[in-house]
Amino acid sequence: MSHRILVTDDIDREGVALLRAVPAFEVDELATLPPAELLERIDQYDAIIGRSATRITEPLLRRATRLKVVGRAGVGVDNIAMDVATELGIAVINAPAGNTVAVAELFFGGVISLLRHLTRADSSMHAGRWERSELLGTELRGKTLGIVGLGRIGGEVSHRAHAFGMEVHAYDPYVSEERFAALRVRGAPTLDALLAVAQVLTVHVPLTDETTGMIGTRALAHLRGGAVVVNMARGGIVDDDALRAALDTGHVAGAVLDVYLREPLVGDHPFRGHANVVLTPHIGASSAEAQHNVAVDACEAVRDALLHGDLSRTLNGALAGEDAVTLAPALLLARRAAAVARALLAERGATAIESVTLKTGDDLTASAGALMAAAAAGTLEGVVESDRLNLINARALATARGLVLAHGAGGFAPHSRAVEVRLVAGAQSMRVGGVAALDMPPRLTRIGDFHVDVAPRGTLLVLTNHDVPGVIGRVGTALAEAGVNIAEYHQARLAAGGDALAVVTIDGVPPAHVRGTLTALRDVRSATVVKFGGDA
Ligand code: NAD
Repeated sequence: MSHRILVTDDIDREGVALLRAVPAFEVDELATLPPAELLERIDQYDAIIGRSATRITEPLLRRATRLKVVGRAGVGVDNIAMDVATELGIAVINAPAGNTVAVAELFFGGVISLLRHLTRADSSMHAGRWERSELLGTELRGKTLGIVGLGRIGGEVSHRAHAFGMEVHAYDPYVSEERFAALRVRGAPTLDALLAVAQVLTVHVPLTDETTGMIGTRALAHLRGGAVVVNMARGGIVDDDALRAALDTGHVAGAVLDVYLREPLVGDHPFRGHANVVLTPHIGASSAEAQHNVAVDACEAVRDALLHGDLSRTLNGALAGEDAVTLAPALLLARRAAAVARALLAERGATAIESVTLKTGDDLTASAGALMAAAAAGTLEGVVESDRLNLINARALATARGLVLAHGAGGFAPHSRAVEVRLVAGAQSMRVGGVAALDMPPRLTRIGDFHVDVAPRGTLLVLTNHDVPGVIGRVGTALAEAGVNIAEYHQARLAAGGDALAVVTIDGVPPAHVRGTLTALRDVRSATVVKFGGDA
């Protein structure tokens, strides 16, 4: 199947070349398009790759009926309507690692510029002057660096700070003590504790509800007097007005800013012309190496998502960070177990599913999120528009329909790769489960109270009958007369002469009348036909 990809925002050539090398891809490379023009064209594309200049808005995504992947050559995705992409099952992929060093190096460039008055020295020299006495600076050695956010960039900054002889402290409640220790960074228990010691304060956190305005009037008041504030993360993390006020009183000695609340910075911004502020126009990632790295990373990830369904790099997918190959059998099992449970409930007239409970063996517990998405997808199959139902949007679609998704305790043997899905619809419930061993296709091993053993593939027929002689023969004959070839047949019962259940997998799609043919047979009480849909 061929895919059409729009590459925009002047992505590095090597990334584009990587896409053009795939025969199944048709690649259009266009300069940043005005929003109206992009809106006109977007429905022709399976993927779009750009940088921050192209805004991926809700109206754009809703218009993009073919779109499967949005690739961002860079880290920030605040230009992408992420919730809408998730709702629509569109994968959003970024390239978070490629520009880390570029930002970390700029950090030192900016801070040293400020502390050694490089920008003033340079403009005064170019203006024909020789002014040494006004350019007395301060050193980094022996100063305390306070890093808020010890992620990729915070970590790289800490390495380089040690080389300058700085003492490094950081506040990041979401990283482990091991990371602090490995980076030789002293952990601050609270933001205020960091503010109390930092002489250079720098933020390297994402812009979230929690970090918006994090360095505002209150925080700046707690900051050690005479400190320098750096924001190379996102505008709005440091509050502009509060920073300006603290600079004016001299409580904050200087600032280095690369990012702003509204970009580009136009007109008379309060920081323009301020002697103690170094301003750069969001160039943290603007190194040739970084642009190359992020373009190649983003294009590779989009290529793999389109060609191989690899969603391990998506930001909004249930598979983010998962090894898609190892998990594939379990995902297939969860999705198909849910589809079987739903079909069996529907056979009994219970169609309005209220809850989906997933149980997993302990070897799969860490992947419960992805497996839950697969179970939700199986529950919704055939109920929602199928080409838009995938592991990215399944949980959101299920929750939006009022389904309660829960993960229950397993109760399986240790090191088990068992999966069980239980659906509840009104007074009725149905559990279907199986095992997804690593080295073989998954097997269904339980339907309701019955132990079975079949592969959930092709089309599955589930029959309930009285445990009396002759039923298997009659079913076999009826299927043969209907031209249906049986792949596997598993007969199960709870007690001799009581209720029995047969699971039959057949090759291909059975004729439409097969269910009626089977239920008309003597001693067969019900027949449920499950045609398995989309891959997990
Ligand atoms: P990252 O995800 O690797 O690290 C972010 C860190 O922030 C994580 O360790 C996380 O635990 C921590 N964090 C999150 N919320 C926090 C909170 N409330 N308090 C304390 N810590 C918190 O991200 P990164 O790649 O290091 O990027 C950091 C920032 O730099 C992002 O905002 C990114 O958009 C920005 N960035 C800017 C440029 C630029 O051109 N100026 C380029 C690249 C990245």
